[in-house]
Parts: sequence; structure tokens; C-alpha cells
Amino acid sequence: MLLDFSKEELIDYVVKLGFPKFRGSQLFDALIQGKRLDEITNLPKNFLDKIKDEYPNFYIEKKLESKDGTKKYAYRLKDGQIIEGVFMKYKYGNTLCVSTQVGCRMGCKFCASGLFGLTRNLTAGEILEQVIIANKDNRKSLDERAITNVVLMGSGEPLDNYENVTKFIKLLNSEDGLNISQRNISISTCGLVPYIYKFADDGFTVTLTISLHASNDEVRKKTMPIANKYSIKEIIDACKYYFKKTGRRVVFEYTLVKDVNDKEIHIKELSNLLKGFPCHVNIIPLNFVKERGLLASGDKATYNFAESLVKNGVSATVRRTLGSDIGGACGQLRNSLIKNNNSN
Ligand code: SAH
Repeated sequence: MLLDFSKEELIDYVVKLGFPKFRGSQLFDALIQGKRLDEITNLPKNFLDKIKDEYPNFYIEKKLESKDGTKKYAYRLKDGQIIEGVFMKYKYGNTLCVSTQVGCRMGCKFCASGLFGLTRNLTAGEILEQVIIANKDNRKSLDERAITNVVLMGSGEPLDNYENVTKFIKLLNSEDGLNISQRNISISTCGLVPYIYKFADDGFTVTLTISLHASNDEVRKKTMPIANKYSIKEIIDACKYYFKKTGRRVVFEYTLVKDVNDKEIHIKELSNLLKGFPCHVNIIPLNFVKERGLLASGDKATYNFAESLVKNGVSATVRRTLGSDIGGACGQLRNSLIKNNNSN
């Protein structure tokens, strides 16, 4: 896939096909602008015929728009797979949430993305494709960069697809391309410990977000199978290493599940775990997933949880809910489209 290439690699590829270098630059510009093949007017037909099989789809299968400006996208990839993303408007800019895998194999009990397991990894170019499509769909002029921030928080476990995900970050970051700085990128992981160390050692400085969702290993094992492999202590040690290497404050995600992780004892345990470590806790109201059957804790318990953490000296906020009128947790839009296809 052509978007897997950096600008230099793309030019090399084009030269090997027997075309001059400047055709490579023109092709790169068309890709970054998200032009479909039939929208490219400055490249000859014999050239387009040679590259068309490797050219991305740039296709929106379905789009849901919320009153608050949030948009949910389902994109269709070249091989027919559907993946999803969310576009969110904030005061400081626009954020796109991208998927890193088709499905997921982590099997978290509250999450819709892993209901059908992992289908395949996305390539670096397929992750970039999502940013390019959303950028095109939201910009007012060809030069405007509509996406300022990217979070790797959609379907999939990014650190389970390490090579493609790190290549994507480099492509996204590249001055030739969309030029989004690492400060404006977040990666969210359920905590694949060895890869957190590797990520720090490989020199990445994006915001590291950990899906913690529990204050002790027993509770974590109830909802997250990965807890059988790595303990919370091992995860926090890896986060401390990441902070030491990068100076970046780590973010912990804590989705409140009624009667599972929302009690006073959990507030106390979580405070003790995190006190003194430069981090922030995002308390997330559970998004109901029918097939999963778990319940949210309710507004009162949610705000009480965050306030109590703050009282205990841990920085915490409740995550603002965006796009509630278009609904759907991670993976649900894709699942609904797959089900519709199957029943047709
Ligand atoms: N695999 C990565 C990224 C994808 S999940 C990770 O585990 O971080 C992105 C975030 O959404 C995670 O924090 C995940 O735990 C959370 N999430 C998944 N399903 C949810 C639901 N039903 N309600 C609220 N948050 C959910």
C-alpha cells in the first residue's frame, strides 16, 4: 500500500517503476491530500494504471454526526474490511481517534472491539489513511490541517501491532506529511509491559495512556485477561520508566463498572498506587455494550470517585462525554455494519 511509504521511499518506488522523480512527489501530494484516483488530474494514465492496485480506498462507508460536532466514521479498506474512528472538536483543536487493528485479541469484558476477536493488523498506511480521510472531510480548504491531534484509542491494541503503529507515528510526525507533533499524539494501551519499555527506548515521546480500570490485580483479572500476564505493579514500573525517559506525564484510564471497581476501597487502593507519581486519571463512564452486560456506575458515583481521588492528592477528572446522541462505544459502529452485512 502506497501510504506505507515515506516520501523518499515513495519516490524510490516510482523511479523503480521507470518514472521520473517528480511523479513521485506529485503522487505523494495526492495521497496526503486524500485524493481518490479519479480526482488526480496531473498524473498520466499509464502511470496511474501502474500504481492503482496499491492506491488506498479513501472511502467512507458510513458517517454519523452529533450536534456537538463529533463524527463517527466507518471506513472501508481495500480488502473490504471495515474499521472505525471518531472525530472530536475541542477548544484547542480537533482530535481524531484511530483504530490500529481490525478487531482485537485482548478480550476486555466491557469492550465491543474484541467481540469477534482479531481479524488482522492494520498497516502503518491504513492507520494513516484514517487521518487523511477525516482531514479531507473536515477541512475547508486544501491547505487547512483539520486534524491537530491524534489518539490511538480506537479498535485494537496498538502495542500488539508495534511495528506498524510506530511506523505510523513516524509518518504522521513527518514534516513532508501531515506534520503532527508527538506532543499532539496519544497512545492508549491495556499495558503490554515489554513494549512500553521498548517504546521509551525507541525514542517516542507521545502521551502514554494506560487502560488500568482496576485498583488491584484481582479486580483487573475480572474484566481484563491481560491482567493474568502483567501485574499492575509491573505496569506502573514501566510507566515510571517512560516518564523518566520522556518527561511526559502518564494518563490512566479508569472506566467505572458498577459493583466491580467503583467502591470506597478501590478509591483508596488507587490513590495509594498513584500518589506521588506525575500522572492524571481519566474517569470514564462505562458505555453500555449490550453483548457485555456490564452496567455503568451512575453520575453521582462517577463524580464522587474523581473528587475523592483529587482529595487524596491524585490528579483526576471525569471524561467529558462527546457525541452521546450518536452513541456507541469503541467497536460498536463496525459491529453493527458487519451484522447488517451478514444478515443481508
Ligand atoms: N487497546 C487499547 C486501545 C483501545 S480501547 C487500550 O486498551 O487502551 C480505548 C479505551 O476505551 C480503553 O481505555 C478502553 O478500556 C475503553 N473502553 C472500551 N470499551 C469501553 C466501554 N464500553 N465503555 C467505556 N470505555 C471503554
